[in-house]
Amino acid sequence: MKEKKLVFRKQNVLYERKISRCREKGVCPECRGRGLEKVLQNEYYYVEPSKCAGCQGTGKFTDWNRLKVIS
Ligand SMILES: [Zn+2]
Repeated sequence: MKEKKLVFRKQNVLYERKISRCREKGVCPECRGRGLEKVLQNEYYYVEPSKCAGCQGTGKFTDWNRLKVIS
């Protein structure tokens, strides 16, 4: 049980770091400012990139932060 907590905390720290980096740059942490979801791609199929749900396609940190608070 202790290990699980530690792992969770570590992931949380990494997440916080990622968020603060993106805040400095002003980009959405989910799409890194591209405004698109991660493209899933392998040799068998290709999925068209869709609008990032985190920022609704703007790629801005402010939009991501605002939408996050609402949901
Ligand atoms: Zn985004």
